[in-house]
Amino acid sequence: MSAKTWRALLKGKHQLSLRLFLLLNAISASFSMASPIYHTQPFTVPAVLVLFGSSLLLVWQLIDKQRLININLVSFSLGILWAWHIIIKNDAIPNTDASYLIIALLTILFIGSISFINNLRAFTLHCLPVTLTILWLDQGEHWLRVMYSIALPGVGITIQHIIQRRNDNFTQRLMNKLLEEKEQLTDLSMIDPLTGLYNRRGFQNRLESILAAGSGNHFVLLLDIDHFKAYNDNYGHSMGDQALIRVSAAIRDAVRSRDVVTRYGGEEFMVLLTNTSAESAMDTAERIRLRVYDLKIRHLFNEQVATNVTISIGVAPLEDDGIEEALELADKALYRAKNQGRNSILTSDELQAA
Ligand code: GH3
Ligand code: MG
Ligand code: MG
Repeated sequence: MSAKTWRALLKGKHQLSLRLFLLLNAISASFSMASPIYHTQPFTVPAVLVLFGSSLLLVWQLIDKQRLININLVSFSLGILWAWHIIIKNDAIPNTDASYLIIALLTILFIGSISFINNLRAFTLHCLPVTLTILWLDQGEHWLRVMYSIALPGVGITIQHIIQRRNDNFTQRLMNKLLEEKEQLTDLSMIDPLTGLYNRRGFQNRLESILAAGSGNHFVLLLDIDHFKAYNDNYGHSMGDQALIRVSAAIRDAVRSRDVVTRYGGEEFMVLLTNTSAESAMDTAERIRLRVYDLKIRHLFNEQVATNVTISIGVAPLEDDGIEEALELADKALYRAKNQGRNSILTSDELQAA
């Protein structure tokens, strides 16, 4: 999406007006030959060129829709051909008054303004050769009428252009805003609102990019606050929330920025330690445990463990079997850590064997 698509849309719109322009030119050339106002010189070289040139370009554009034709070049060339046609006709018409020239001018202006209502440059390039030719052939006698005839659509197109540009700017701003908000929503949908950590969706997203980045040794830590139900029951839910926020920050602070910290469930967290050794994974787990302990959040109901909030941790390697397997192993280790008296770290058998 974005600016690129926007420019492509505008280009597409201009190519559509080019098709209309070619069609009107082909019709106008055919008509001037089939039913000329003055019966002298109905078939001029430039009129034949306009008919065949526009028809060919039109067919070419319809067959190869991706083909972009230079609008300015086409509108200018057809303008020159029409000017040439008018010179030939004007010479051939006996006792000319200005009517032929005015009618010719109006036809050109009509086609130009209908086709290029949003494209002042193409309009000018198309009409300028004819206007100058007519001023010259007419010896400036009707210059005011000629100028009026070209100024009127010119002003109209300019105003239209300004309005259109405003609308385009507005639409583009709106589109950018929507894209921005969409990005924000996508980001928000990956974050847990209470703790600011990743939620499971955010974790999945990070995991995919980490795995795509190549191989390395990764470790999964599952962390669970000890006797947190008792904390909630005794200190209240809102104090419980405050404790969760502080514990989350402590975990986040204890790891590197490339590690992924996730709120995995109510008072359960998961940390993915990326590109590291088993030894430093264990060191990090111990650092997290201590950081949380050192918060010294008073918890007198943390039965037989401590008088403050503590966590237990299960560690497992992330191997080829995938994340589910690693989580299962970490969960088993965590379960054993809980049974062994909490506030402790245990590893999966696989890691111990390693
Ligand atoms: P254990 O040491 O075995 O983990 O005991 P526990 O009490 O922590 O275990 P359990 O899983 O039974 O209790 C978890 C409690 O966490 C239940 C609920 O009161 C609390 N909890 C879960 N999510 C939230 C939350 O978002 N806010 C608050 N305040 N409490 C939560
Ligand atoms: Mg718990
Ligand atoms: Mg739990």
